[in-house]
Amino acid sequence: MTQALAPYAVTDLNSRGRAQAEEAPATRSEFQRDRDRIIHCTAFRRLEYKTQVFVNHEGDLFRTRLTHSIEVAQIGRSLARSLRLNEDLVEAISLSHDLGHTPFGHAGQDALNDCMKPHGGFEHNLQSLRIVDQLEEHYASFDGLNLMYETREGILKHCSLPNAQRLGELGRRFIERRQPSLEAQLCNFADSIAYNNHDVDDGLRAGLITLEQLEGVQAFARHCADVRARYPDLGERRLIHETVRRMINAQAVDLIERSREHIRAAGVETLADVNAAPALVGFSDAMQAELLELQRFLRDQFYWHYQVLREMTKARRVIVDLFDAFMSDPRLLPPQHQRLAGEDKPRAIADYIAGMTDRYAMKEHRRLFSFADGR
Ligand code: MG
Repeated sequence: MTQALAPYAVTDLNSRGRAQAEEAPATRSEFQRDRDRIIHCTAFRRLEYKTQVFVNHEGDLFRTRLTHSIEVAQIGRSLARSLRLNEDLVEAISLSHDLGHTPFGHAGQDALNDCMKPHGGFEHNLQSLRIVDQLEEHYASFDGLNLMYETREGILKHCSLPNAQRLGELGRRFIERRQPSLEAQLCNFADSIAYNNHDVDDGLRAGLITLEQLEGVQAFARHCADVRARYPDLGERRLIHETVRRMINAQAVDLIERSREHIRAAGVETLADVNAAPALVGFSDAMQAELLELQRFLRDQFYWHYQVLREMTKARRVIVDLFDAFMSDPRLLPPQHQRLAGEDKPRAIADYIAGMTDRYAMKEHRRLFSFADGR
């Protein structure tokens, strides 16, 4: 069943278009074209070997940034369809939202940000934008992917004020505190629905958190009790999956219902109304409280688990060592990165490191710091 888009949805017609004018695609919408360009770019393929929580070599069953991005796109598309928003735009933003992540997840990002503090800092949202605006080398007549304005707006989820000022038009909403499209707002929630729930699943699978612990967390416990009541003899793997899928569904339904109410109450009729209104996509207060409890649990018991922290400490050391080595002697960089370092050394080094996969960063570290790994 295809419904017409809501009047305040982003479309090819009300979009602010591309920085470089291009002929309209023959058979696709502009935002389908964006989605396709993202899937074919180099940074997208690298997501397969970048950490979500676990370092990439730890196991084949855990989420990577690639599977995370696909899950965000799946959740985002269903939310968008229910709210009659532009599914193609939501898919494009979801698939590209993590392109700028460093190797080793947040530990890598924090380490690179510390290294870059004296040189303008490092923000992964801004790096995602830098990739699609400048760094990808695929097209004859422009750098980057020349994406639609609203896709780029959605990719830039957060931005510090100094960086917002440098960005011009795209940064203005952070200064003026205006909202992005509903599609962009929705992607942030699809992202958190995806990672909160798959981190429960991955944490259990890794044995770092337990069912008993989670039965003290409301967001999990109430669905788990439901499943046990209906299927008393269910094995643990199926029990977990049935619980997690109910959690995702409950969060999605809550988000759709509350957002629909907010949109109706705000009386928005156009995209410009959406930009001027307060944020309209969101959970109910009860769901928000439940999710806060879940997030605290995940932080304390999973992200700060001593085994995870040990991996993250090693990851941090790899990033800092690489950065320091290249800064003190840029001749250690591969030739194409040496050329770029001639213009802005710290930024070129940050681009090189941020583009690495987990395993490439570890290999590069061995190549620089150990004789055992040769060239
Ligand atoms: Mg994400």
